[in-house]
This record gives sequence, C-alpha cells and structure tokens, in this order.
Amino acid sequence: LNGKVMVTGGAGYIGSHAVLALLDAGYEVVVVDNLVTGFDWAVDPRATLEVADVADGRVRDVIRDHSVRAIMHFAGSVVVPESVSDPLKYYRNNTAASRALIESAVVTGVPHFIFSSTAATYGTPERVPIKESDPQRPINPYGMSKLMTEHMLRDVAFAHPMNYCALRYFNVAGADPEGRSGQSTQGATHLIKIAAEAATGKRAHVAVFGTDFPTRDGTGVRDYIHVSDLAAAHVAALALLVERPAESHTLNCGYGRGFSVLEVLDAVDRVTNMKIQRKLEGRRAGDPAELVADNGAILSTISWRPERDDLDTIVQDALAWERRLAEMGP
Ligand code: UDP
Repeated sequence: LNGKVMVTGGAGYIGSHAVLALLDAGYEVVVVDNLVTGFDWAVDPRATLEVADVADGRVRDVIRDHSVRAIMHFAGSVVVPESVSDPLKYYRNNTAASRALIESAVVTGVPHFIFSSTAATYGTPERVPIKESDPQRPINPYGMSKLMTEHMLRDVAFAHPMNYCALRYFNVAGADPEGRSGQSTQGATHLIKIAAEAATGKRAHVAVFGTDFPTRDGTGVRDYIHVSDLAAAHVAALALLVERPAESHTLNCGYGRGFSVLEVLDAVDRVTNMKIQRKLEGRRAGDPAELVADNGAILSTISWRPERDDLDTIVQDALAWERRLAEMGP
C-alpha cells in the first residue's frame, strides 16, 4: 500500500476487529477514535491510536504524518431507537462527520475509502434476499444518515481521484475467535449480545420482540454475520480498491441465510447447556419481519469466503467474550 490504513472507530466493536484483520494481513494501521463509545484497550498495541474526532481538522495532520493511503470509516452512532428520539445526533455523528472526513480525504489526496453502511438503508424490503440494487427507503434516521453518506461517496468518487467501497452490514455478531476483542459497549440492544449477557447472569431473561411476524415461527429473521468474517471482507475490499482504482463498489455483507429469534435462543441454550428465560413481548417499533442479504455480489467481486458461517460458532464466540468481560469487571 505504500502507507498506512487509517481506521476511524478502531476502538469500537467492528472497527477493533478490522484493525486486527489488517495487522494480521501485514498492513500498518493508525486508529482515529474519540473514545466516546470505544475503549483504548480494544486497540491492538501494534496500531497507533490518535484520540480525535473524525470531523476534527487534526485528522488531516494524522493523514499526512502517517502517510495514510486508505481510510476505513467505522466511527459513528449505531443505536436505531436513539436515532428516532435524537435524529440530529445521527445527522451530526454520521452524516456531517463523514462529510468532514471525506473532505479531509479529498484535500490530502487519500485514494481509497471504505465505508460502514448498513442494511438499514433498505428500510422494509419488498423481497428477501435483498440485492444491492433494491430500493433504499430507510425507515429511521440511522439508516438515512448512512444512506446520505453513500450518496456523498458516489458523487465525490466521480469528481475526485478516489475510489470507495460501501459495505452494507446485516446483523453483526460474535467476537474475535482468539479472544482479543468483542462487543464491549454497555446498554446493548442487539439480540446475540443480550442473549450472551443473559447466559452469563447479567440479565434475568431475554425479551422476544414479536411472535406474530409472517415467518416460520412468528419471530423476526435476520442474517447474522460473524464480526471476524466481516473484518476480513474489509481487507479484501481494500485489496480490490488498490488493484482497480477506477472502480467503486457497494456490497451487502451477509451470509445469505436467516435465523429467527427463537432459533438464535435455541442455539444459546444448546451451546451453554442452559435454558435462558424467554419473555414473549410485542413487536419493537420499526422492526421488519425478515432481513436477509443476497450476497452474490460480494462473493463474485472481492476475494472473500466466509469462514464462520455457523450460528453456534457465532454464539460461542460471543459467549466467550462475554465471560472475559465478566472477569474484567465493570
Ligand atoms: N430482538 C429480540 N429481543 C431483543 C433484541 C432483539 O427479540 O432483546 C429481535 C429483534 O426484534 C429482531 C432481531 O432480534 O427481530 C434482531 O434485532 P437486533 O436488535 O439484534 O438487530 P436489528 O436487526 O434490529 O438491527
């Protein structure tokens, strides 16, 4: 690459796994993170950590000082219900901060940009599995804030010498199989994290949000992807951007199959040999019945093959990290 990869949000959940994947592949990494939701201890010591906001002009000095040749942009806010109650936080931390970061990339001449987008940009899909070309009609400010960044990247790549890859994540779960990182943020809203907390005694039960969806067992179906496979997809996407500087890509990140809430909880019971308490509740606002990726494009575009496409493996890795967190204390 002839320079470093800058990873924004590299102290957070997915970003810290991308840092590990990049370092393991031999890249040099500088992390930019404001540590509002991330943790400095989550950044592998082989990387340099610069504590700064991505919207800060200091990012340009970081880019120059470290000869940054590619940016992976994970930093942002990710809680969907919070985006509904505080939309301007999402348009600031996601849309406006991305605009500032992209401008820093353009001004300093960074040639490659990889962006954390989301299946939430599709809103309620008309059909599953979802293809990249399907309509994007976000049903919450989180999804809209990410969609607006996709649009900025498309226009900027047309106007300036930069190519990009927007990766639309489905449901990310699990933890580094070697136990080096995992999902550490408090106040989780994601199913597998919550189930792992229940399995380690941090909560008494798991609420099942909705049992009357038009799915095989009435509960919501999602395409859960292991965070380490997702991190590996970023490294493969970077290789493609470098190899073909005239091309940009937008790719779904999922395994192309879904599991229901009850199937996930069954997997947790199976892996732990316990019976997690389930509390059947009403639907959560804005939850679609089923989100599953058509992953044909990512499989044919970048050199990436899923290695942990197995629900029990995802659950096991999430649980192992949850136990480590419990040992580390509050
Ligand atoms: N879910 C649930 N109980 C929880 C958290 C989530 O039943 O405590 C369900 C949720 O309704 C959805 C699925 O699990 O059908 C995945 O939700 P999550 O919040 O993990 O991800 P999302 O798909 O909303 O991004």
